Amino acid sequence: MPPDVPVQRATVAMDAEVLVIGSGAGGATTASVLAEAGFDVLVVEEGEWVEQGSVVPFSLEQMDRQYRAGGVTVALGLPSIAYTEGRCAGGGTEVNSGLYWRPPGDVLERWRDQFQIVDFDPADLLAIADEVERDISVCTAPGAYSEPSEVLRRGADKLGWRNGEIPRWMSYPSADDAAGGQRQSMTRTYLPRAMRAGARLAVGCRVDRLVTRHGTAASALTTLADGSKGTITFRHVFVCGGAIQSPALLQRSGIHGHIGRSLAVHPTVKLAARFADSLNVPDDVPVHQVKEFAPHLSFGGSASNPGLVALTLLDQWPTFRNAITQWEQMSVYYAAITSEGLGKVRSVPHMKDPIVTYGLTWRDRALLRSGLARLALLMLEAGALEVYPSFKGAPSVRNRRDVATMQQAFSATKASVMTVHLCSTVPMGELEGRTGADSFGRVHGCTNIFVNDASLLPTAPGVNPQASVMAFAIRNARRFAATGGRRA
Ligand SMILES: Cc1cc2nc3c(=O)[nH]c(=O)nc-3n(C[C@H](O)[C@H](O)[C@H](O)COP(=O)(O)OP(=O)(O)OC[C@H]3O[C@@H](n4cnc5c(N)ncnc54)[C@H](O)[C@@H]3O)c2cc1C
Repeated sequence: MPPDVPVQRATVAMDAEVLVIGSGAGGATTASVLAEAGFDVLVVEEGEWVEQGSVVPFSLEQMDRQYRAGGVTVALGLPSIAYTEGRCAGGGTEVNSGLYWRPPGDVLERWRDQFQIVDFDPADLLAIADEVERDISVCTAPGAYSEPSEVLRRGADKLGWRNGEIPRWMSYPSADDAAGGQRQSMTRTYLPRAMRAGARLAVGCRVDRLVTRHGTAASALTTLADGSKGTITFRHVFVCGGAIQSPALLQRSGIHGHIGRSLAVHPTVKLAARFADSLNVPDDVPVHQVKEFAPHLSFGGSASNPGLVALTLLDQWPTFRNAITQWEQMSVYYAAITSEGLGKVRSVPHMKDPIVTYGLTWRDRALLRSGLARLALLMLEAGALEVYPSFKGAPSVRNRRDVATMQQAFSATKASVMTVHLCSTVPMGELEGRTGADSFGRVHGCTNIFVNDASLLPTAPGVNPQASVMAFAIRNARRFAATGGRRA
């Protein structure tokens, strides 16, 4: 833990002018804006502070200490979609790939117009994105690309498909080598900044529910890491628990409205590709993405340690199992779609976790099928000897004819579909019936309860979402600071 950061253990009785629940991309930025504006801010985080570098990336220990439920969480449906959420100081920003995409301008305009977000100029948000990029050191990687990244570039170039390196929030010790790069997550950037401005961060503290009366919350009931129960009193509260936990907390607090009814995700299907030479990089992900078919369909590279390669082979283990002995020559890739489906988050009395469901549309299923086929083709063009798609009954792919056979055999219900991009469960805007919070995140029908995280994004942005989450959170927190929390 950096010595100048006074992280606290939560206590049974705490008090703050502004309570921020959750310390991820939304919570950390909210806390820093408000603390710098002079508010007395308390951030509570269910997980622990885990110093970067103290756990091996993508290891079981990391899953256990930094992910919710050890990374085993699922949206039920046909097929069910596995998803993961960070649960630690810094939230998802501590465990994610760090790939940075500005919110696309056309998406911002569509959100403004279709969800009636008022006082919103996309140019202002992009100016905030400029600040974020400086604050978290968004940059391209120095030195040569890793071989798994080169695979994407080479395959796409041969097919004439648009591709490029995606910058990341990283700082590198050397100008010509990516070794030793450190992700500029919230524990390295906005959380220390918030605390330097006077915010307090209390870890190991889950907010079970807000105590509300006529749309005003005065206190939060908590459970601490040792199981003891506590209370926090406050004047204003920002719920920043992420797109699954925020709506669940609001529902547990008796707040319903349009809350948890429109979960949006970027579903992905995967394959493992085997090459002639060793290329596996167990502790990092490729920096290239292929955007020829964006925004509907994108390709990229996944974490590929031996366990994750085995997981990709698991759906067809009886015939794919022998490939695992060659894991060093293998890497895992994904096809991600911008889904037209929707999901729901429902809290259930006496259960700690909500029930999450998601329904893919027929168009989504078709897109996943053609996406996996195109990705397999790209792998062959990049020189893959054999490709192992991740669905039950999958044939392996060695040539173009196999791609067609595989495409025919594919069905989304047989595939291991997963996602790490969750949003839109409390969409922002003034449009009645389709938004859960107003144009600055105040929950409809409430006086002092705000949401300021991925839940607010009106739909899935079609690109990696963290930059959009941060830019909106900063915009909304600034508005709160300027108005003292009063309705403008
Ligand atoms: C494996 C993975 C890879 C990803 N890769 C990328 C990427 O490369 N680029 C990108 O842009 N995005 C990526 N993302 C998505 C990105 O991390 C999220 O969009 C972003 O972190 C969402 O921010 P948030 O504030 O909404 O929630 P989070 O960052 O998830 O933070 C929420 C925090 O709130 C805490 N919390 C929840 N409920 C409570 C409660 N009741 N009481 C107290 N605390 C609570 C949680 O423990 C968590 O720490 C990835 C995500 C994952 C999981």
